[in-house]
Parts: sequence; C-alpha cells; structure tokens
Amino acid sequence: MSDEDTETTREATDEEASQPTEPTETGETRHAFWADEIADEIEARIERQLAEGTRDPDAPVVIKGGVSPSGVPHLGHFNEIMRGYFVAEVLRERGHEVRQVFTSDDKDALRKVPRTLADDDWNLVGLGEVDAGALGRNLGKPYTDIPDPFGTVDSYGAHFTNLLAESAEMIGVDVEMLSNTDLYAEGAFDDAVATVLSKQDAARDLLAEYQDGVDDDYVPFMAQCSECGKLTTGIRSVDLDAETVEYECVGMEAGGQQIDGCGHAGTATFREGKLPWRFEWPAQWQVLGVDFEPFGKDHAEGSWPSGEDIARQILDIDPPVPMTYEWFTLDGDALSSSAGNVVTVAEVLEMLEPEVLRYFFARNPKKAKDFDTSRLDQLVDEFDRFEQVYFGEVDDEDLAPLAERAYPMLVAEVREERVRLPYTFAAVLGMTDDRDLRIRMARSQGFVDDDTPEWAIEEALARVEKARTWAERNDNAYNYRLQADLPDTDFDAEIESALDELADFVAEGHDGDAIQGEIYETAKRHDVETSDFFAAGYRLFFDDTQGPRLGEFLGELDDAFVVRRLRREG
Ligand SMILES: [Zn+2]
Repeated sequence: MSDEDTETTREATDEEASQPTEPTETGETRHAFWADEIADEIEARIERQLAEGTRDPDAPVVIKGGVSPSGVPHLGHFNEIMRGYFVAEVLRERGHEVRQVFTSDDKDALRKVPRTLADDDWNLVGLGEVDAGALGRNLGKPYTDIPDPFGTVDSYGAHFTNLLAESAEMIGVDVEMLSNTDLYAEGAFDDAVATVLSKQDAARDLLAEYQDGVDDDYVPFMAQCSECGKLTTGIRSVDLDAETVEYECVGMEAGGQQIDGCGHAGTATFREGKLPWRFEWPAQWQVLGVDFEPFGKDHAEGSWPSGEDIARQILDIDPPVPMTYEWFTLDGDALSSSAGNVVTVAEVLEMLEPEVLRYFFARNPKKAKDFDTSRLDQLVDEFDRFEQVYFGEVDDEDLAPLAERAYPMLVAEVREERVRLPYTFAAVLGMTDDRDLRIRMARSQGFVDDDTPEWAIEEALARVEKARTWAERNDNAYNYRLQADLPDTDFDAEIESALDELADFVAEGHDGDAIQGEIYETAKRHDVETSDFFAAGYRLFFDDTQGPRLGEFLGELDDAFVVRRLRREG
C-alpha cells in the first residue's frame, strides 16, 4: 500500500541490480530473483491451508495492492502493481492460476484538496484550472461521491481509478481494478462489517494497542450521512440483527484538522458506510481471499501489525504473505503528490521503453532507489547491460542468474536480434529529424547493418524519439537541432580556411576526442579565437550560437556529412 499522507525523506543509495535477496538463516540464497522467494512463501501458505482444509483447492492465488485516490496517479503507485506483477508471473510459470487485483480505496473521504491533478490526457494541472470549489465543498465525502473535476466520468474517484488502469495498461500489466465503493454496494463487506461490529469491544481493545485516541466510545465503523453525504465517526448504537447503525453527523478528524458534519441524526445500513482503514484493509483480505500483498515501509510499522492481529483475532483469517518495499525517491526527493514531485507512467514512457521501467521495479525491492529523470540515460544503460548479460553478450557471473530469471518478464517478446542504440547516442540522433540520416549514423557506428531486420530498425528509431523527448524535457546537452540543410553563414576567410582544414582532418577518420583536440589546434594554427571557431561550428551544424561538445558530437555523426558541412557544400 502506498499512503499519500505519509511522506518520509530518505537518502537514495546506488542500487546494485545484481543484489540478491536476503540470505536465509543458513546463509544461502535459494533464488536469484526476489519474486521467487515470495512465491515460495505463498506456495507454503497455500499448502498449509490445503492441509488444514481452510482453502478451496480451486481458488486462484490472489495478489493485491491498493491506493486511496489522491491528486495524480503516479509512478509511486506502481511499487505495488509491479511487485505484484513479478510475483504473479513467477506463480503462473509454476502452474498457478493467479488473479492480480488492485483496489481503489475510493470510499475513503477526501481529506484535503490536492494541489495538482492529472486531466484525461495526462496533463498535470493546478487547482486554478479546474472547479476547485467543487472539491473544497466535498471534503469529508467519499471520492466516488465527488464530481469529476474534468466532467468526463461519474466521479473524482472514477477519474483517478481510470487513469491508474490506463497506466497499468501502458506498462503492460494485466491488473484488475476494483472499486471499494462498488464492493460495499454489492454487499461484499457485509459479513466483515458484521463480524467486526459483533466483536466491538475486542476490536477496540486491539486497536488501542496500536493507535492513540481510541476511547470507550470508539466504534469501528463510519456512517455516511444521508443529509450531507459526509462520512462520520459519530456512531451512537449498532443493531446487529437489522445490520444498521444509529449515527450523529459529527464529521471527522483528518490530519489534525476537523471536517465538520451537519449534525443530522439518522440510521445507516452496513453498506451505507465503511470500516475505518485499519479494519478495512484486513477485511479486504477476507473479501478478496488475498494471498500476497506488498506495501511500503510506512505500513510495515503501522497498519500491517494491527492488520495481522485483526485478521487473526477478529476476522479469524490468515493474513496474506507480506512484503515491505523501500520507496524510491524522484530526482532525490520523496515522491509527493501534494508537493507536485510526481511523474506519471505516461510521462516516463515518452522517455523510455516499458521494459526499462519494468526493470526499475524488478531490482531488489528492499533497497532505496532514486528515479532520476535527468539521468535516465544511466537507467537505460543499466537495462541494456542487463539484457546483454541475458543474451550472453556480456559476462557477469553475479548478474547472470537474475538476468536469466527476470529478463523474460521484462519484455513482451525475447528477441536476440534487437538493436539497442545507447541512449545518449539515440539522443544525438534525436538532434535530426531526418530518418535516413539517423539510420546512416546508426550504420556508421556499427549498430545497424544489412542483416538488421526492419522491425529492429524501427524499434531502435523509437528509442531516438524517446531520448529526444528526454533531452527536450531536461533541456540538457543533447537538446539541439541538427540542421539538415546548410544554414546561411558569413564567415571571414581565416575561419573558412580553418574549417576546410578541419574537414580534411575529419575525412581521415578520427574519433570524437581527436576531433575535439583538433578544433583547438586548428584554431591556433589559423590565429582564430577558439570561441569564434566553435561558434562557427555551432552555426554550421545547429544554426545556433551554442551546442553540445562539438568534437565529440561530430565524432558521432556520419563522416561524409560532417566533411561536406564543414566545407559548406551541403
Ligand atoms: Zn451530515
């Protein structure tokens, strides 16, 4: 589970992809891939339940995650979806039927107005651009009872859930999105609510061990007021036979702030309200038959220990196999929807391939990581190397077992003939729009030859577009446009003869470093200011006054093209 309200900052440390899962007590690591370790635990749990006769032998393995809707469905939510995915894939390989579900905890009350939202087209918009009042007036109401700020679907909750489902599809994970509101309305929680309320005293005592402020009046249920639509904790009595509660609309406390109720006194059925989160989570395990659920470390210290107790002592069920993952930071800071430090799957997939993003989540979940959007080149390079290890093109004994196991789960299809242009080289190719020139440059660097299949060229060129988007978003050293045609120039004679001499040098065939050095030497020999000579180069290639490290850049280009351009011939 990820919880928007708990944001902790932690230092990102470098991640070693080869890091195996923690050794067992005997110091051995049974599996290279952490998902296999989890699958072992799930299988042991299933076997135990079958032996006890507490499990339907035909029941699928259920893997869950969940989130309370907030401002923007972002990459952080995929901590659970992707960890669940890898475990699901491992179990499917082992012959199990697996159902991966993700609950949108959309019956939760809106507790604070988010500062940023994502619209239907994944644009991040500030509150000023939507009907913020509609959100503000609805504090305390379930997300599914709040109008969609973009006016497209039934509710704000549905808007959020749809975007999350769309993200999962983009990254290629088949996860079933479930609405908590729907589950309550269908009566799926009826039994769990009845059980919790029939053991009110035990439930209260148990919760008091974990949470402050649980007094003698505490009832583990929140009713939705029939007058104002807000959820209220003011439960005055419970009628277990009629499956109703009497409530007084006193509102609720949220994040140290009181959301006022309207004072109405009424009756609500068990479906016209909800369990508080600490009880709702284990109730979901019961309702959905959950076998495994990953969650962030905030829950490891909070809702998980109480949930485990509630499952065993109140609901009389086995809690699922847990897994605590470390959160990743984004550009060095904690992910925060409210502070606007978020990135969406849609945005990320404009800059790298889904398999690279999957790879990010395949690495050891116990280690803190940083998703550094300015250095996506490093992440892509790491993925490329992982892939090369899988295909035996790079020797790495430590990494090989993990690559062998996890790589096929990263890609849609395992294809050895693929072409991966190094990401920064792809960014260089992204400086030109000329498709043929891109291919010529890839060919001159040896990435493409006559045997390269057309599909592989297309996929390689697709990375060029992504690297270009990355360069533009970050406005980094690759964010320049190579001019396909010779720009208008007006150089003096000394500069012209220096350019001609540099052209001769390039024609001899030298690498980028050599060309960079020669630019300085040539300028000196012709008594031209170095800065003027570089400016001439930038004018010729980018029609600009500045650009990337020129020599290295020219080294990446097709020699014939560079020579022609330096000679101002085309
Ligand atoms: Zn009310």
